[in-house]
Amino acid sequence: MAVLQQIVFIITLAAAVFLIRKRVLRIRSNIRLGKDFEVTGDSGQRIKNTMLIAFGQQKMFKKFIPAFLHFFIYVGFLVINLEVLEFVVDGALGTHRVFAPYLGGLYNILMNVFEFLAVAVLLACVIFLLRRNVLKVARFQSAEMTQWPRMDANLILVIEIVLMTAILTMNATDQILQTRDDHYTATGSLLFSSFIIPLFQNLNTTTLVFIERFAWWFHIIGILGFALYVTYSKHLHIFMAFPNTYFAKLEPKGHISNMPVVTNEVKSMLGLTATPSVTPAEPGRFGAKDINDLSWNNLMAAYSCTECGRCTAECPANITGKKLSPRKIMMDTRDRMEEVGKSLQAGGPGLNDGKTLLNDYITKEEINACTSCNACVEACPVLINPLEIILELRRYVAMEESGSPAQWNSMFQNIETSFAPWKFSSADRFNWAKDEK
Ligand code: SF4
Ligand code: SF4
Repeated sequence: MAVLQQIVFIITLAAAVFLIRKRVLRIRSNIRLGKDFEVTGDSGQRIKNTMLIAFGQQKMFKKFIPAFLHFFIYVGFLVINLEVLEFVVDGALGTHRVFAPYLGGLYNILMNVFEFLAVAVLLACVIFLLRRNVLKVARFQSAEMTQWPRMDANLILVIEIVLMTAILTMNATDQILQTRDDHYTATGSLLFSSFIIPLFQNLNTTTLVFIERFAWWFHIIGILGFALYVTYSKHLHIFMAFPNTYFAKLEPKGHISNMPVVTNEVKSMLGLTATPSVTPAEPGRFGAKDINDLSWNNLMAAYSCTECGRCTAECPANITGKKLSPRKIMMDTRDRMEEVGKSLQAGGPGLNDGKTLLNDYITKEEINACTSCNACVEACPVLINPLEIILELRRYVAMEESGSPAQWNSMFQNIETSFAPWKFSSADRFNWAKDEK
């Protein structure tokens, strides 16, 4: 029986690793659909950002209560997963609490810490569920939070509650079995699961063994299923927040990346540089129409988005009733990437499917509503920059389609001919000072 369990466990683990690896490779190739992106700046600063913002959750603490609850879920995720190591070794070798004899009293301390975190995670998830579904916090109710994103958020909270309950149930039944059967390694008293021991105390040993084993299997299969599910969910941010903060731009937020070929042309028009003697290389498309026109960094950011809506809650365009939501910009970018990736995997047309990120996912009305204020960038807890994508889409509309609103087009024309937004000759620019003494 024990050998059969070991075989089932090893097959389950191998299947989970295979599926997770396949999905991770798919995500990587989706991100690689993006254009190359030159990583510049101080790598020390990048590491500091990663440690403070991704690992230390620094920006989350702008809203203390959700940050405090999220912190428990995050630490619980990191620390409780250490216990999974023991699950894996036990499952593969057919042992039971294999580390307990080696760690002695430390094992009891660790288990009590795990249980404390399990209870904290459980309570935090219940509160988060209430905030979303009973208190109906406004930023979780926006138009882009359709059925799937809402279900995804709820599902993951429910899964975590169930997984934490399984750990506590397993420990409670295990503690009773330690008093009845030598096979069960002594763990010492486990504080939090001791509270639910009375629920199981009167059960016979066979039933207890069944419950303990069921909770063990449920927990480990739940963890493996969770790990796979996360790769399809917004909860991928658990992992992606780290590379995303590392590769986030270091320039001041107001900095807009120019196209070098355009900059050179303008400088030459203004007489700031000599006209290039050689024709520059074909600049390619101006701005972005689809995901392959964005940088891989922009695409990775879309997979890092937690759909928390802090950006949308701060967006002046959204607040004043415009159609724009920076969260939707990131969700649409990810959805388009997934669509193209799936099509390519199935041997389909991929990017040539007749659809594009602009128009089919994100409309001109949305991008034109953006004031470029950077409030969304400032608000994002994992340094995502929705404005970069908006600007690239707008650059495409302006430079490739001349499709900006009429008022903007006349301003662009003035800049091109008069080097200023106004329709006055550049030769007259100092007229205002003529009569000054
Ligand atoms: S930069 Fe644009 S999208 Fe971002 S908050 Fe400002 S108006 Fe909204
Ligand atoms: S872009 Fe950032 S702030 Fe906006 S929903 Fe995603 S994670 Fe939250």
